[in-house]
Amino acid sequence: MATTQATVREAGQDFIRDIVRVDLASGRVKAVATRFPPEPNGYLHIGHAKSICLNFGVAEEFGGHCNLRYDDTNPARESQEYIDAIERDVRWLGFDWGKNLFHASDYFEQLYEWAEHLTRAGKAYVDDQTQEEMRLTRGTLTEAGTESPHRNRSVEENLNLLRRMRAGEFPNGAHTLRAKIDMGSGNINLRDPVLYRILHAEHPRTGKAWCIYPSYDFAHGQSDAIEGITHSVCTLEFEDHRPLYDWFLANLPVPSHPHQYEFARLNLTYTILSKRVLTELVRGGHVGGWDDPRMPTLAGLRRRGVPPESIRDFVRRIGVAKANSVVDMGMLDFCIREHLNKHAQRRMAVLRPLKVVIENYPEEAHEDLEAANHPEDAGAGTRRIRFGRELFIERDDFMENPPKKFFRLSPGAEVRLRYAYFITCREVVKDAAGAVTELRCSYDPATKGGNAPDGRKVKATMHWVSASDAVRAEVRLYNPLFTRPDPNAADFAADLNPQSLEILADARIEPALAADNADGAVQFERQGYFCRDPYSKPGRLVFNRTVGLRDSYAKIAGTS
Ligand code: ATP
Ligand code: MG
Repeated sequence: MATTQATVREAGQDFIRDIVRVDLASGRVKAVATRFPPEPNGYLHIGHAKSICLNFGVAEEFGGHCNLRYDDTNPARESQEYIDAIERDVRWLGFDWGKNLFHASDYFEQLYEWAEHLTRAGKAYVDDQTQEEMRLTRGTLTEAGTESPHRNRSVEENLNLLRRMRAGEFPNGAHTLRAKIDMGSGNINLRDPVLYRILHAEHPRTGKAWCIYPSYDFAHGQSDAIEGITHSVCTLEFEDHRPLYDWFLANLPVPSHPHQYEFARLNLTYTILSKRVLTELVRGGHVGGWDDPRMPTLAGLRRRGVPPESIRDFVRRIGVAKANSVVDMGMLDFCIREHLNKHAQRRMAVLRPLKVVIENYPEEAHEDLEAANHPEDAGAGTRRIRFGRELFIERDDFMENPPKKFFRLSPGAEVRLRYAYFITCREVVKDAAGAVTELRCSYDPATKGGNAPDGRKVKATMHWVSASDAVRAEVRLYNPLFTRPDPNAADFAADLNPQSLEILADARIEPALAADNADGAVQFERQGYFCRDPYSKPGRLVFNRTVGLRDSYAKIAGTS
């Protein structure tokens, strides 16, 4: 079950930063160099944000630098669209790699030279086994693997085959280059791992120059060494790869000796942080794209109106640990609300409109009232809102036969309209089917501004818009993408929430919202935080709900 990591660790207090501090104090490291190494095969998600904040954050805090390095060793899955998206998202999150932009593919020639170096030293060989044969002879956690029949080829034969692999003489899969380490090792990663595969595929950067590509393991540590990375921080799955990472550094004439450290990846309830699954959600049409506001991608969160400050705050609060855990999605929402409550301007919008006619307000008349943009920040200023004879209120704010504790509008009840007047419901108008279509009300002109001179009180203050100048808009409410806090990545379609998107096509918003060019989220009073969808057009305005005013995940999980 999910745990909310309540312990707030200040920046500078996690084990990675402790290591960096010690390394700098002891002089083992002169200047910190980290890297963020995305594979350009998908959009970044909030798990990546944890890694970005850690790598760029450590570099910034300790006066070092962080490289953005594309781990572009698999041309079959990579594309320019992903590269552009990654750069946009890292910048949006608030980090800058400056001139430190690199690609594993920048090092293909050097990596190949090192492959020959290992081969000449008798530490690598060309194998003819298929991927399947290699899998079957790899052994298990308790049983040693079996040596390949090609393991003891001569250095000359291996070099010859490797050069012919590079020259393109063989089809995909005909050979691999493997390190000659130990098929009996307790660590499966050391059982003669593959260094190069034949893949006749064009690479976005190197074009047709190569038809063999290095494995992640062979490329990653050596790229770190070439760039002089001091602290190569990655997620826990790579802990068992560290002996191999170190083996390459020990057996190759590399220019520097980075250290790898592992931290726990971010897992979040009600979503799946895996590029494979996110790719399938997009390709399968389960969502509208990588930037669908229901996606845990940075592009999706941005489109939903989540400010980058909230994501950085979230990452700071969850901390960096060595043990895997699952963070409650409510924690992210909490961070979003924290920021927006302070910074978002207030507006009024009616999501499900019900018409109100103020019978004692003169026809054709109207007046402009003043509304505060932020209740705690006078500097945010005010705006004018129009009051008139015909208004819209929220359908939920009226009940014909209210239960005892319903204090909003009902026949005979008096309520306050925010920034305006007290009104009383006099009559309920219905259509032939019995549905309420309109309320006939009266207002008390003495209560202008929302207070009665005789001191009488009302128990509810409601938001509203004026029918004469309200603008029609579509409002999209987002619910969790999955119905379970721990959706099954292997069969995610079964756990998709059919109600993850709710469209309200006939909302009415105050005109200031239609005119605002602001990209950021605003608070629709009493409803939550919303932002204009970037694809929204004048005449067809669309607003996305960023987050509600209260924690909805706790409710779903039954914990409150
Ligand atoms: P996925 O598992 O989503 O496919 P990945 O590890 O394959 O992610 P990369 O592009 O290789 O994706 O990731 C770039 C960096 O981000 C890596 O250093 C990786 O460890 C880190 N990273 C990926 N997912 C998470 C996560 N959920 N939490 C923290 N860091 C992550
Ligand atoms: Mg990866």
